[in-house]
Amino acid sequence: MNKFASFILDLLFPPKCAVCGELTEDRGALCEECLGRYREESGHRSAVAKTFGTGLRIIVVTEYDPARADTHVTERMILRLKKVKRVSLADLFARDMALALLKDVKLSGIRAEDAVLTYIPRGGKNLAKYGFDHGELLCKRISKYSGVEAVSALGRVDGREQKKMNAEERMENAEDSIIAGDTADVKDRHVYLVDDIITTGASAVRAATLLYKAGCADVTGLFIAETVRHDKRKR
Ligand SMILES: [Zn+2]
Repeated sequence: MNKFASFILDLLFPPKCAVCGELTEDRGALCEECLGRYREESGHRSAVAKTFGTGLRIIVVTEYDPARADTHVTERMILRLKKVKRVSLADLFARDMALALLKDVKLSGIRAEDAVLTYIPRGGKNLAKYGFDHGELLCKRISKYSGVEAVSALGRVDGREQKKMNAEERMENAEDSIIAGDTADVKDRHVYLVDDIITTGASAVRAATLLYKAGCADVTGLFIAETVRHDKRKR
């Protein structure tokens, strides 16, 4: 972009921090202060694969603690990512996830071309509300930074009306609404399944089941964050 065009762009859409809304000097996702705090918060990441719940292999690059949603930059970034389509914000996570992915590919001894990225599509209601699929955006950006191919292998059908359902029925409804899409590209490959947060793992397990049925070699969940559960008894 030439200087004049970016000058006009700044006048029309002044660059603002995705977290605090302050005007920023450049078009990065965050102002300097929020970026500094994000780097402090994310200083101790290891991002090695582990087993989640009933056996899904997952990689997460950070934690999501609902109790910190108003105070911590990382939590606020994750919440913003779902609401505004902003590539520079997605990229802050996508770069970390791409690094974790490449590290895992190397440690697992698989060839990069045998790995493939896909994502859990956003439900129709939220897709209509926000106008974009944040999982798809994240998946494409991870692909750009890692060089690992991204494909759209899963789909979504609108679930039943949720208003009259209890929590358990809602969970089943969410699982049912994820369906297999064009799965030709996942056959015999190592699938990295991208989503923002893993909490119960119900959607991820449902998606993994469909991918295994489609003949993939294995599935590893690749998430920004795992939700911190404060009430361990409910686990
Ligand atoms: Zn800020």
